[in-house]
Amino acid sequence: MLVLVRSVDELRTTLQMWRSHGLRIGFVPTMGYLHEGHLSLLSMARNHADRVVVSIYVNPTQFGPGEDLDRYPRDLEGDRQKIEQAGADLLFVPTTQEMYPAGAQTYIQVRELSLLLCGVDRPTHFQGVATVVAKLFHLVQPDVAVFGEKDYQQLQIIRQMVRDLMFPVKIVGGEIVREPDGLAMSSRNAYLTPAQRQTASCLSAALRLVRWAFASGETNAETLLRLATHRIGQEPDAQIQYIELCEPDTLLAVQGAAKPEDRMFLAVKVGSTRLIDNAPLMGNSTLDG
Ligand code: AMP
Repeated sequence: MLVLVRSVDELRTTLQMWRSHGLRIGFVPTMGYLHEGHLSLLSMARNHADRVVVSIYVNPTQFGPGEDLDRYPRDLEGDRQKIEQAGADLLFVPTTQEMYPAGAQTYIQVRELSLLLCGVDRPTHFQGVATVVAKLFHLVQPDVAVFGEKDYQQLQIIRQMVRDLMFPVKIVGGEIVREPDGLAMSSRNAYLTPAQRQTASCLSAALRLVRWAFASGETNAETLLRLATHRIGQEPDAQIQYIELCEPDTLLAVQGAAKPEDRMFLAVKVGSTRLIDNAPLMGNSTLDG
C-alpha cells in the first residue's frame, strides 16, 4: 500500500524502519503531473530495490524569472493513483517551508556542465536542480535513484554531483518514453494546442533524420547539425533555442567527425512552450520503436 508523507520527520521515521530491516531503497524524484515516462522510472527503481520512494515537488529554485512555475500543471490525486498502481511504496510531497527554510544560503553548483546547452538560456536552472536533488538525497538516503534520459544534461549533472560529493547512491538512467508519433513525453506537453502538438513532432523527426543520415555514412558534425536545423526550420511555429551535437559524458561540442555514441540535443520553442529532446547518433533508441 502507498503511504503519502508530507513532513520530513515522518519520512525519516518510515525510512529508518525500512533500513533497519535491511531493505534497499529506490528513489524517483519528480515534479508531478505524471505520465508513462515517469512510470517507467518507477518500474526501473522497483527492479533495483525493495522499497520505492517517489517525490513530487515543483522546485521553485529551478525556475527562472518569467518561467512557468505558477502555471506548471499539477494533479496530486491523479498522480497518487498512478503511483499506487505502479506499485511504489511511499510518496513524499514536501512543502517549500521544509525544503527551503527561511534564510537558506547553501546552493550546489556543478560548474562546467551547468553552463552548457540548457544552461545558456536558463543560467540558474541546474543550480536549483542540483540543490534540491542533494537535499532529497540527504532526506531519502536511497541506494539507487533513477533519472530519465529525456533530461540527459540533468542526468549527467547529477552523476557528476554524486561523484564530487561522494553520495553513496547508484544513479540509473531511464530511456525516453515517447508518444506514438515520437514526441518525448513531458508534463509540459499539456500546454500545447492541437496545432502546436502536431508541430512538436518535428523534434523527434529531426533526430530520426540525423540518425538515418549517420547510419547512411554521414559523419560530419556540421552537416548533421545543418540537417536537423533545416528540418525544424520547415515548421513556422517552431523557434530553435539550440541544436548541438555533443560528446555524451562531457557534453562538449563535437568538432569534425562524429562518433556513434555522440548525442544530438535539441531545445525548441513551440509557441511559448519550450521542448527538449536528445538521442545518440547510433545504437538503441526509443525513436526506432
Ligand atoms: P520531471 O517531473 O519533469 O522533473 O521529471 C522527473 C523525472 O522523469 C526526470 O528524471 C525526467 O528526466 C524523467 N522523465 C521526464 N519525461 C520523461 C520521458 N518522456 N521518458 C523518460 N523519463 C522522463
